[in-house]
Amino acid sequence: MMSNIAYIQTGWRAHAPDSTNLARSTRMLLRLVRATQPISRSELARRLGLNRSTVTDAFKPLITAGLLREELLPQTSGLGRNQGRPPIGLSFNRAREFFIGVNIGVRRTQVGLTDLGGEIIIEDEFATPSEPRAALTLIRAAVERLCARADGRKLKLIGVSVPGPTDAQRSRLLYAPHLGWRDVPIAEAIRGEARAPINGSVQVIVENDATATALYEARLRLRSETGADLNDFILVRSGTGIGLGLVIGGEVYRGTGDGAGLAGEFGHMTIVAGGKPCVCGNRGCWERYASAASASSLYVGDRVQLGGQSAPKYVDIVARAEGGELRAQRTLAQVGQYLGIGIGNVIMGLGVPRVIVSGRIVFGWKFIAEPLRETIAQRMAGKLTNWSIEPGTPMGAGLGGALEVAVDEFLSSGLGG
Ligand SMILES: [Zn+2]
Repeated sequence: MMSNIAYIQTGWRAHAPDSTNLARSTRMLLRLVRATQPISRSELARRLGLNRSTVTDAFKPLITAGLLREELLPQTSGLGRNQGRPPIGLSFNRAREFFIGVNIGVRRTQVGLTDLGGEIIIEDEFATPSEPRAALTLIRAAVERLCARADGRKLKLIGVSVPGPTDAQRSRLLYAPHLGWRDVPIAEAIRGEARAPINGSVQVIVENDATATALYEARLRLRSETGADLNDFILVRSGTGIGLGLVIGGEVYRGTGDGAGLAGEFGHMTIVAGGKPCVCGNRGCWERYASAASASSLYVGDRVQLGGQSAPKYVDIVARAEGGELRAQRTLAQVGQYLGIGIGNVIMGLGVPRVIVSGRIVFGWKFIAEPLRETIAQRMAGKLTNWSIEPGTPMGAGLGGALEVAVDEFLSSGLGG
């Protein structure tokens, strides 16, 4: 019965010893409530294949503790169920705790605040400074500004999404090739000197942006899917570069030992020997051909650029393709093929056939999807698996993912005590 309970678990932490099925299903129930709130007990039971009394038992202490609350659901006509008795829905109490998310992007940084309701309540954005120290000063100031507007709620956790691998403890950014940052102690810098409301006791979790995006896209899908299919998938985030988030066996996979935090760095696998130079110092990396940013150089080709005339940006190329320009359409088809080459490799290498593509690349999906699918279909991955590729969100997964990292940690680790 428990086998169809999917849980997108951030499983690398040393959280409370709660590996019992009940604790696991409670975590999944909480994630489902968060994605679908308000939701009735019977609907929760149906979606997870549990009986109603199990659901009721799991929630009783959480309602008593004030984390969850009950509310009358609007009557839906025509269903004929529970006639005369208005259904009661469960939702999170939004008035108690809040979470901060920080998305450090290559070009821009967003800082946002959310509660357990799931919507972003306040958001701040600025250009990412080139120096990590300057960036962290701005981030800390933005976090303090947002905290001042939290309406009496308590800050529980800060999640930070970064464009590169992190250390095993999820506190440092190891390397962000597009920013040129190496070994930045992000968690420590954001906590800073003990000062309310960000004091030393607030946990700051630094996560790779593609992994954070995987959590975010999983939550969006939990609204309509049972969750069982979300046990295993590959998240491909394509924007300035390419990063992958791996969810395997219901857990985020980050690598093992010293390599924890490195898993998913497929953007720099070589797909063209002696190809275009990459910021990482190598040549022919996948992201030089299949990231949204790579479309510009594919569009311009080998032609010498005229002085002062820069190559169009990805969104401009998409606009031109939509306007019927063949050159732009061919460029996006090429990006689709290169994306397919890499995704085919990853599907075979990991044995995970469900792929969600997220990030700026999605803006051009209607020109990319077909060549992408054709390329995968021609490869071993396409012939041996029931693979699937679906577009995720083009925008918002950066900050959304950072917030997801914070909230998911809270829901998974004993709810902050
Ligand atoms: Zn590279």
